Amino acid sequence: MKLDHLAIAVADLDAALAFYRDALGLELGGIEEVEREGVRVAFLPLDDGQSRIELVQPTRDDTGIVKWMTKHGPGMHHVCLAVVDIEATLARLAAHGCELIHPQPMTREDGTRYAFIHPRSAFGVLVELYEKPV
Ligand code: ZN
Repeated sequence: MKLDHLAIAVADLDAALAFYRDALGLELGGIEEVEREGVRVAFLPLDDGQSRIELVQPTRDDTGIVKWMTKHGPGMHHVCLAVVDIEATLARLAAHGCELIHPQPMTREDGTRYAFIHPRSAFGVLVELYEKPV
């Protein structure tokens, strides 16, 4: 299992980049507008070559991340772990009685399969699982 990304919810992507890129010194890998999810995401790859920090700014009021930020403010939103077999991982979690937001994996446009585990089962942390296409 590998750390894929840490996602941080921000209200203003440019202000967040002034810290994470300019002050802290991370590289900006790119910025992507994900219309379907109503978010703008900045990718900041880390030096291990496989994990990154994602700054996520909502672009619409009807997104889950807006609801989350109303409750929690900006901050650490979720941790994403890359697994080899997402179905096996979800089955293992279900067998342990864990609460799954996506009991079956969803698929992104690039073929990455993903699922979220409810923070109630993960000690307050929203955990995303990724299975990258091979
Ligand atoms: Zn994520």
